[in-house]
Amino acid sequence: MRIRNKKVLVRVDWNVPMTKGKIDDTYRIDQTLPTLEYLLKNNNDVYVITHLTDQESNFEVLVNYVNKKLPEGNIFFLPNLRNDDREEKNNLIFAKELVKDKDLFINDAFAVCHRKHASVVSVPKLIPSYPGLLLKQEIKELSKAFKPKKPFTLILGGAKFGTKLPLVKEMLNTADHIFIGGALANAFFKEQGYEIGQSLVDQKVKGLKNILSKKNIILPIDVVVKDKNGKTVKEPNLVNKDEIIVDIGPKTIKMMSGVLKKSKLIIWNGPMGNFEQGFIKGTNDLALLVANSSGYSIVGGGDTLYALKKFVKANKFNFVSTGGGAMLEFLVSKSLPGIDVLGKKQ
Ligand code: ADP
Ligand code: MG
Repeated sequence: MRIRNKKVLVRVDWNVPMTKGKIDDTYRIDQTLPTLEYLLKNNNDVYVITHLTDQESNFEVLVNYVNKKLPEGNIFFLPNLRNDDREEKNNLIFAKELVKDKDLFINDAFAVCHRKHASVVSVPKLIPSYPGLLLKQEIKELSKAFKPKKPFTLILGGAKFGTKLPLVKEMLNTADHIFIGGALANAFFKEQGYEIGQSLVDQKVKGLKNILSKKNIILPIDVVVKDKNGKTVKEPNLVNKDEIIVDIGPKTIKMMSGVLKKSKLIIWNGPMGNFEQGFIKGTNDLALLVANSSGYSIVGGGDTLYALKKFVKANKFNFVSTGGGAMLEFLVSKSLPGIDVLGKKQ
C-alpha cells in the first residue's frame, strides 16, 4: 500500500533519557526515522506524537535532532502526550482531538504497545490505522521466538520479577535452555534454601518450585558477592548473611559459552548484575559470547541496552528491540493491545 498526499498521525516512542540537554541514546528515535522519511518523501503532512517522562527531557532537542535527519517536508510535532492526563486514562475525547482532521494513523511506537493509553488503543478505532515500519520489524523479529530455530536459548536477568517470570513460564516448553541471571536468580537460590544474604529479591514471587524442576532451567554456578571488605567469587550455596550477590561469576560464563556456541536462536532481556555499581563484567562477558555465537541474537530491555551500549553501537546483535516491557509482554502473549487494534476501523 502506498500512502500519498495524506494527513498522517504517527505515534512514536521518543521517550529517551537526556543529560544536560543531550540525548543519551538515540537508538529508539533512529529506528522510527524510516517511517517518517517514507511519509515525507510521499508528500504527506506528518503529525508526530510521543510521550516524554524524563523531567530533563527537552522537546526542542528532540525536534532539532530529527529535523536534521529527515528530508524536507511538512512535519509537525504535537505536545508531549502525557502533559494531558487523559492520555493515560485512555480518554476517548482526547483520542478524538488527536485524530481531528487526520486521514490515517500509523503506530510506530512498539515500546508502548502494551499500554492501554488513548494514543495507543483508542486512536486506531477512530481512523484507518496501520503499523509503521519499526512496528512491523519488531513483530517479525520477536515472532522468531514462537517457532524457534533449535536449540533456542532464552537469557533473562535484571530485577523485574513480576514481568519476567511469566515469560519463563511461557517458554518452559519452547526454549531448549532458559538461563536465569541477575537479581532474578536470587529468587531461585532462595527457593532452593540457600542463604542469599542482603541480595535483592522479590519476597512475593510464587511458582518457582515447578520451574526449578524443569531440565531446561539453568542457574549461575558461581556468583560475585560484595561485603564490607570487597568482593569475592563463590558458589551460590555459600553466600553469607552479610553478603550481597551482585553479578554472575566466571565459571558460569564458561558454562554458558558451551550453550551459546550451539544455540541457533538467542533472546536476551535483563542485565546479569548490578552494573550501575560497576558489576558489569558478567553482562559484558555474556554479551561477548552472544555476539560471537553464530546463532541469531535478539536483545532488548531498557537497562539491558544501557548496559550493552557499546555492543549495540557496534552492531553486535542481529536485532535490538526498542521494547522493554512491551518486548516481554509480546513474547508472552504473542501480540499486544496496541497491535491488536490496528486496522479495526477501515
Ligand atoms: P531491563 O530494564 O533491561 O528489563 P530490569 O529493569 O529488569 O532490566 O533490571 C535492571 C536492573 O537490575 C538494573 O538496575 C541492575 O542493577 C539490576 N540488577 C541486575 N542484577 C542484579 C543483582 N544481582 N543485584 C541487584 N540488582 C541487580
Ligand atoms: Mg528496567
